[in-house]
Amino acid sequence: MNDIQIRSEYGLDEVQARIEKHIDTLSNFTATPGNGTTRLTYSKEDLQARNYIKEKMKEIGLQVREDGFGNIFGKLEGTLKDAPSVLIGSHFDSVPNGGSYDGPAGVVAGLEVASLFAKNQLKPKYPLEIIALIEEEGSRFGGGLMGSRGIVGMLSEDDFKSLKDKDGVTTEEAMVKIGLDPSLPKKRDSKTMKAFLELHIEQGPILEEKGIPIGIVESIVSLTQLEVTVKGQAGHAGTTPMDRRADALVAAAKMIAQLPELAEEEGNGTVITTGQLNVFPNGSNVIPDKVVFSVDIRSGKEENVLNVIEKVKELVDFYSGNGIQTSVEQLLYVQPKMMNKDILSLLKKKTSEFNVPYCSINSGAGHDAMVFSDYTDVGMLFIPSKNGLSHCPEEWSDSRHLAMAVQIFYEAAKKLTEAE
Ligand SMILES: [Zn+2]
Repeated sequence: MNDIQIRSEYGLDEVQARIEKHIDTLSNFTATPGNGTTRLTYSKEDLQARNYIKEKMKEIGLQVREDGFGNIFGKLEGTLKDAPSVLIGSHFDSVPNGGSYDGPAGVVAGLEVASLFAKNQLKPKYPLEIIALIEEEGSRFGGGLMGSRGIVGMLSEDDFKSLKDKDGVTTEEAMVKIGLDPSLPKKRDSKTMKAFLELHIEQGPILEEKGIPIGIVESIVSLTQLEVTVKGQAGHAGTTPMDRRADALVAAAKMIAQLPELAEEEGNGTVITTGQLNVFPNGSNVIPDKVVFSVDIRSGKEENVLNVIEKVKELVDFYSGNGIQTSVEQLLYVQPKMMNKDILSLLKKKTSEFNVPYCSINSGAGHDAMVFSDYTDVGMLFIPSKNGLSHCPEEWSDSRHLAMAVQIFYEAAKKLTEAE
């Protein structure tokens, strides 16, 4: 894969070297050194990464600003007055003990596209904006895709303010703590956006198995995140007889154990995951009186997701009674999203011109691009993930592939911004 020839005038080696440096630097901003990237939104590590990204944007000559969510924008002005921007970027938060590439790869790609604009002294008609988004993973405040949902207005100011992390810290309190200003403008008019391009690692095995460096994303799967709350009765672990208990954790465990069957029954590649479980009061000698757990459901077909949501609700309901109360809240629901046809053709054309092998691919993971797809024209590229792994410290992608994606986005962005 590495001997693919690309016209050397683009300085592929230089771009690749800079990409490696960015990725290395950003991966140091982790709360779990030696055990992957843990960069929760509005944490100390968020601030470190944020400062680095802003500094690099300024070095390229971009005008840097943050919005009331803490999303970062680096703008290269266009010659047209009040014209909409071509946005390129991704998120810079991580899951707990995640990898160095999920999110940052797309932010870094944006920075490098802007660097090429600067290096070649291009004058775009439409502005180019590099963006770095917060809380895509939902690891601190739940729900996910928070930065992009905020920008387009899908997440209201009140809903944003009401979100708390597991320690009860609100979004605004957490923002202020790292010096961000929640009173800055939040929602952005869709008229200010001409297109959005996102590069992401595939997070699956397909591209690597095929030996293809670039996947051009056609659509992004439908997904939902549910939050199940199970309430019981706390009691002494030693003195409460077994038949007198309403143990919230035992009830939750029975529900969770049945979830995989629901996905298997549904078929069509439907997947279901409980990745988050909070037990209250979480003491070894206290019967749990409350459990809150997540249920993430995904499928390429919307009807499969809708069916499984209903089945989960029925399952949870079944365990109500005998001192146990249950409720299900839907934190996130996203329909499958198609990428813009014109941008798809543009990306295919540019990739072919570089003689880089590519294939069409669907995304099994949710991305900020799918949020933007209802508000502007969206295109997305994938690069291979080593062994298909992601959301773990072993996550790795080849910086050569990232550099190729940068060249493709650079050419696409020139066209979309009508740069000369
Ligand atoms: Zn991601």
